[in-house]
Amino acid sequence: MNCTKCKTKAVIKLPRHHAAFCKSCFTGFVHDQVARAIKSEAMFGKDDRIVVAVSGGKDSLALWDVLLKLGYKADGFYVNLGIGGYSERSYRMVQRFAEMVAVPAGAVLHTHTVEQEEGAGIKELAQLVHRPTCSTCGTIKRYQFNRAAVEQDYDVMATGHNLDDEAARLLGNVLHWQEGYLEKQGPTLPASVDGFAKKVKPLYRLSERELAAYCVLNKIEYIVDECPMAQGARTLLYKEVLNRLETESPGTKQYFYWGFLETRRKQRSSSVAMTEKDQAMLHPCSTCGQPTTAEICSYCKLMARAKREVPG
Ligand SMILES: [Zn+2]
Ligand SMILES: [Zn+2]
Repeated sequence: MNCTKCKTKAVIKLPRHHAAFCKSCFTGFVHDQVARAIKSEAMFGKDDRIVVAVSGGKDSLALWDVLLKLGYKADGFYVNLGIGGYSERSYRMVQRFAEMVAVPAGAVLHTHTVEQEEGAGIKELAQLVHRPTCSTCGTIKRYQFNRAAVEQDYDVMATGHNLDDEAARLLGNVLHWQEGYLEKQGPTLPASVDGFAKKVKPLYRLSERELAAYCVLNKIEYIVDECPMAQGARTLLYKEVLNRLETESPGTKQYFYWGFLETRRKQRSSSVAMTEKDQAMLHPCSTCGQPTTAEICSYCKLMARAKREVPG
């Protein structure tokens, strides 16, 4: 098997693109896919300040790496959840990448430590509010990431969601006809109101397997295991189903998700209406001032509930 581009020995085969690549052409292919995503979805420009949510996993570290290699101003943001060995290992991966690649490229790593800022570990917080650890963690991560982005004047927040994540999410939304979620699902969410930063997913054209290969070939060490608190069994099932379809007919995943985006692009005018609708619904949280659809935002509710439960 030879590289489709340069005819030397290939190291990876990409059936959905009818291609095989050597290490350097594959790296070029990944950079190119990200560049195309950024351009076609009008995500950001060379002067914009970007903050990447990094977890220590392959997707977010690959994203940070590609953005820096493409010459973007991208800093990292890591939330230390304090989940024993898992958090220690993932933080080590993030720190190592920052020291070896990001800092020498002029980038900064911001770290938010839950135990210090929220006053309790994530497990403890979840127990206090009687909610699953995963949803408590999600609320805190989203909130702190957005707060850091707004307070430190970043133009864009970027996350490492890949094609598999987005296709699985789309399948779930379609199966349950979650029209509200379908309307909002996409690689670019504009900063619809004051207090909310623009959100983008520059890896939506790349699969999980391609991102793992990118990290291995470019010597980016990452944490392989998922968060031990993660539940997402349903998402895993959707991914499995999509992978079966993909094996039978390569390209199904991208056809499904990109086709959805293409169809919606044709209805752009209606998305303007959505932004207006959002603006009407959101207003500042009465406690912290961040945008919310309720009187008090879900983060402040969570923290208030946690405090009430603390004896004395
Ligand atoms: Zn090649
Ligand atoms: Zn609030």
